Amino acid sequence: MQYQQILNEINQELKVYERLGEIANYIPELANVNPDKFGVHLSHIDGGNYSLGDSKEKFSIQSISKVLSLTLGLSLVGDSIWNRVDVEPSGNPFNSLQQLEFENGIPRNPLINPGALVMADILITNLENPKEDFLKFVRKIAGNDLIDFNHKVAHSEAKWGFRNGALANLMKSFENIKNDVNEVLDFYFHQCSIEMTCQELSKTFLLFTNHGKIPETGETILSSSQAKRVNAIMATCGFYDEAGEFSFKVGLPGKSGVGGGIVAVLPKKYAVAVWSPRLNEKGNSYLGMEVLEMLTTKTGWSIF
Ligand code: GLU
Repeated sequence: MQYQQILNEINQELKVYERLGEIANYIPELANVNPDKFGVHLSHIDGGNYSLGDSKEKFSIQSISKVLSLTLGLSLVGDSIWNRVDVEPSGNPFNSLQQLEFENGIPRNPLINPGALVMADILITNLENPKEDFLKFVRKIAGNDLIDFNHKVAHSEAKWGFRNGALANLMKSFENIKNDVNEVLDFYFHQCSIEMTCQELSKTFLLFTNHGKIPETGETILSSSQAKRVNAIMATCGFYDEAGEFSFKVGLPGKSGVGGGIVAVLPKKYAVAVWSPRLNEKGNSYLGMEVLEMLTTKTGWSIF
């Protein structure tokens, strides 16, 4: 497959879509990013690398980190996490409180905010130095010791994180948060503040292309059955209340974040990351969705 040629064609055809969408501004520090940044990197499992634009510039991965905390949670405590978080698409915005109240404090899935807060709580219970140990885990999968939190972004979010505070407190009232609410929020805001380039992000997600094994080292992080589950949750729940639309248009498991990143996986072949900070009304990168739709259309490959 001529991936670089396909990416170049996409770049040409994309011009018409430029400048649509709005940058996330509810986390003030994210609003400082140049909205016209645009990068793509495709990491192939056979070692091939293909890219466009600002693919070597770091951005805030935000909710994409929820896949990594789910992975660490699954690898540490296994299936018992499903007693505290469900695996159904929510059909609601990522920070919605309504459904959580009706459903007695059990989040619909681990990729919306309440689900990620429960995962943060599970990790705090099971790790000695939660934030440091999580970062070590991400660095291991990424094969890169320079991956780090952006403390400014974490503090900016903490200052304005009233809805996340409400979600964590609501779940605490249902006894689905075991640790101190402030500690859980602090962990969550830091995990969301992790920065990666498109190149680093796509390499990290080769884990899910490769059935739970890090391709570079051969280390098993998840069993192939667990990796299948993470991919299934990405495919059904990875795009807020636009997961159906993403599946319909792109047909790959993936996850987006309000920093404008999207990462998607074609099992056994590649992981691809796109970054463009302008978001559509559902909070997904406008250009990111377009690029990935074009990629699966032009290659003729998706999970379907
Ligand atoms: N840290 C963001 C929040 O909790 C993540 C949102 C996202 O990327 O979906 O609002």
